[in-house]
Amino acid sequence: MDACFTAFDKDEDGYLSVQEFEFICRALFRNDRGKVYNVEEHQLKKIYSVFDLNGDGRIDREEFEICWNRWIKVCTRPKSAFLIVDVQNDFITGSLNIKQCAAQHDGSEVIEPINRLLETVQFDGVFYSLDWHPIDHVSFIDNLHLREVDPSSGISKEAAQVYDTVTFKGPPLLKQRLWPRHCIQDSWGAQLHKDLKIVDNGIKIYKGTNPEVDSYSVFWDNKKMMDTSLSTQLQGKGATDIYICGLAYDVCVGATAVDALKSGYRTVLIDDCSRGVDLVDIEKTKATVIADNGVIVNSSQVKAMVEGRDRRPELGYKLALEIKQKLNFVDDANQ
Ligand SMILES: [Zn+2]
Repeated sequence: MDACFTAFDKDEDGYLSVQEFEFICRALFRNDRGKVYNVEEHQLKKIYSVFDLNGDGRIDREEFEICWNRWIKVCTRPKSAFLIVDVQNDFITGSLNIKQCAAQHDGSEVIEPINRLLETVQFDGVFYSLDWHPIDHVSFIDNLHLREVDPSSGISKEAAQVYDTVTFKGPPLLKQRLWPRHCIQDSWGAQLHKDLKIVDNGIKIYKGTNPEVDSYSVFWDNKKMMDTSLSTQLQGKGATDIYICGLAYDVCVGATAVDALKSGYRTVLIDDCSRGVDLVDIEKTKATVIADNGVIVNSSQVKAMVEGRDRRPELGYKLALEIKQKLNFVDDANQ
């Protein structure tokens, strides 16, 4: 830490200026082939301000120690979890085969690149999520008769078709997209695809088990009434980064990435390991993730990132924002 500070304190005044800090960022944010990533000016200034704790316009050794321990160390040695979302029979060849949806994607295409990552990348934790519904689940179109549709619903019970969204009577009102019956607990359709590699110590996370609420995100159900055990397990592994992929890109993968970012994780979506329902919605998903400082990559880039040889400024920026929030929280608590 001290050696780093001294090396970058070019004018030897005992402080790091913004310009000196910029050199640290240039050394930090580069890939394994020596390409230096550009850090946007406003992001650089924001990161600098996070570690200039007393706001005097310079970073002293004490402030740099926090920067070193909480930010640089994570950027160079992240703890990475791999989350494979819903690679289950029903989404690939079964009742909710995404080939029949607008994008006409073949869900089985994710298996090979996912297996390659599992075989070649040393993740700190591997998670498999499973959509896991009881037979009376609210999302199944053939269960429409079990519940009352609210008069405010854009589509009536009689007119509703598969993939439409209806509003069920509350309280509270529940907006729900209607899907074919899928991923019934313990059925063939709910099993992970037989060709998907299951690693030792891989952890399965079940979602959508409550009949009354759907669950796209692997973190929470759609009403945020119950969380799965994912957050606890990630914390247990000390994960800083999450790599997310699987099925369907614009539904469960996207919702999970949004919640990962909300939960403060440096979040990476693996594009070629994901397939979706609707091309427009897939583009929306990508835009949302990027706007919230997530990153979208190809699987060929993952190994170097997990090993800390390819370090992305977007993830560094995201982490700095999270540190800022935590420091503010401590400040507020101390006042
Ligand atoms: Zn489902």
